[in-house]
Amino acid sequence: ETMVNQIAAGEVIERPASVVKELVENAVDAGATRIEIATAGGGLSLIRVTDDGFGIAAGELALAVSRHCTSKLGNDIHDIRSLGFRGEALPSIGSVSRLSIRSRTADGEAAEITVEGGRVSAVKPAGANRGTAVEVRDLFYATPARLKFMKGERAEASAIADVIRRIAIAFPNIRFTLSGSDRSTLDFTTAGDRLKRIAQVMGVEFPENSLAIDAAREGVRLDGHVSIPSYSRANALQQYVYVNGRPVRDRLIASAIRGAFADTLARDRHAVAALFLSLDPALVDVNVHPAKADVRFRDPGLVRGLIVGAIREALAGAGI
Ligand code: ADP
Ligand code: MG
Repeated sequence: ETMVNQIAAGEVIERPASVVKELVENAVDAGATRIEIATAGGGLSLIRVTDDGFGIAAGELALAVSRHCTSKLGNDIHDIRSLGFRGEALPSIGSVSRLSIRSRTADGEAAEITVEGGRVSAVKPAGANRGTAVEVRDLFYATPARLKFMKGERAEASAIADVIRRIAIAFPNIRFTLSGSDRSTLDFTTAGDRLKRIAQVMGVEFPENSLAIDAAREGVRLDGHVSIPSYSRANALQQYVYVNGRPVRDRLIASAIRGAFADTLARDRHAVAALFLSLDPALVDVNVHPAKADVRFRDPGLVRGLIVGAIREALAGAGI
């Protein structure tokens, strides 16, 4: 079982940022209003995610760390509203690290469980506020080969911050903080609306240097903001793209954005963008791979056309 979980971990948990993504998504799914992330050593020595969500009952803690156990089951994969549904993250993390989960539900007793290199402890009483604190220490200590592939603490710490920025834009009503001994710290206070959160994450100058996008074609809607050409960047890291509220990184969408700016931006410049696609969930698969943020559209041409058309129209409307 540990072996199976370690193989799954190879798929789901590529680096510390993947752990942060999984734990933060779990906190979002638990209805948290406040999610605190602390890291040390680029997440390799410590990742701690604390939330004020509905918690895990003491009697469910053992289930939470066992394979394919999820409390988020929907029969139709397209209908799932929660971010997680595979029941793979916690057992995978527990198979390659020292994992501890402390949790309390609104009307239950606080309890704790630990998993070390796949060995699951008994559930013990603990002290905790309502919500969940998940601590991951010594990531990949149980799989030294994987540890060798890490890029160094600074690179891992910045990948972690990037994951948090991407999720934070999707959930402006949740407060996110990142702290710890790694240099990157973030504090996104509850923003109320999306544009305020975008300004917190992408810079207060972005909205005023951007054009609003709002277009629809055959039931697919695109809205958000793209930068004016003078606000472009040397890399595409400042492109934040969401499909039905989930952060994605998708080649088709990135290439459509590039195409839309082909006449207005030099080849080595990239637009800054926050773009949100909404469409019938049956027309898109956002779960192609458990960890990668690829998407597969039923009609890629329609999506490309919509993005290119909407951005070009906005540029033309601004006389650019
Ligand atoms: P999934 O998210 O796909 O269900 P995970 O392995 O990430 O699988 O989590 C397993 C289960 O543990 C979840 O279905 C949920 O019931 C519980 N869980 C994990 N993290 C939290 C949390 N922060 N708050 C409440 N429940 C949680
Ligand atoms: Mg999950």
